[in-house]
Amino acid sequence: MANVSLREIRKVYPNGFEAVHGIDLDVRDGEFMVFVGPSGCAKSTILRMVAGLEQISDGELKIGSATVNKLPPKQRGIGMVFQNYALYPHMKVYDNMALGLKIAHVPKAEIKQRVMHAAELLEMVNLLDRYPKQLSGGQAQRVAVGRCIVKRPEVFLFDEPLSNLDAKLRASMRVRLTELHRELRNAGQPSTAIYVTHDQVEAMTMGERICVLKEGTIQQVDVPTRLYERP
Ligand code: ADP
Ligand code: ADP
Repeated sequence: MANVSLREIRKVYPNGFEAVHGIDLDVRDGEFMVFVGPSGCAKSTILRMVAGLEQISDGELKIGSATVNKLPPKQRGIGMVFQNYALYPHMKVYDNMALGLKIAHVPKAEIKQRVMHAAELLEMVNLLDRYPKQLSGGQAQRVAVGRCIVKRPEVFLFDEPLSNLDAKLRASMRVRLTELHRELRNAGQPSTAIYVTHDQVEAMTMGERICVLKEGTIQQVDVPTRLYERP
């Protein structure tokens, strides 16, 4: 569990374009925060800076009490779910989920317990013996989320994870992911979540708080009900 704090964070891309103009934001311990805004407002740039996949040009980024500006992704205690799932095609679902833990030398029995538990939470125990190409889009997305959960990251980062799914699946995954966040909190394993989307319905239904971005600046940060009152 960790809070994420951004102080005067700026991003200037190598071509000189300033994509993020010195933003301040505090994402609290265990909170589900959604970044929303039109394409190009810098949602993904900010998320990637938190993940360590994009360099920070200026400012201070903290995860928990540590300043992580210079830390590589693996040392930040984050888990990221991407839009395109990024599963290994030659590995079964179980092995896709277990891989990160194997690399981290987690004992085999514990790997099994964590994978089974995540599979139960995501209702995908029956998928563990399949290969990625035998999965539907929604199933593949659940595996991608499961692979992240087993690592028990302090902070979950979601980059438009549902945008490749059809409307019906998207609606059910929205519910599933928010339930999951609550279940982990109730199980004593709260995870902070930052969830990026351009979909306002997704933002309003999923966010405990919502950060509205426009052209690399923060316009508003508030709970969904209050955002409605001040459109
Ligand atoms: P969003 O995720 O909200 O769609 P992005 O973070 O992808 O927005 O992009 C924010 C802005 O930064 C856009 O204007 C985009 O064109 C620009 N941008 C993104 N990546 C680069 C890059 N590698 N070099 C230059 N500009 C970039
Ligand atoms: P245990 O020794 O039983 O694994 P833990 O303290 O590791 O105890 O976790 C408590 C319970 O919550 C366990 O049932 C565990 O499987 C579950 N749990 C904890 N963190 C996560 C997580 N990130 N994802 C799924 N399940 C989790």
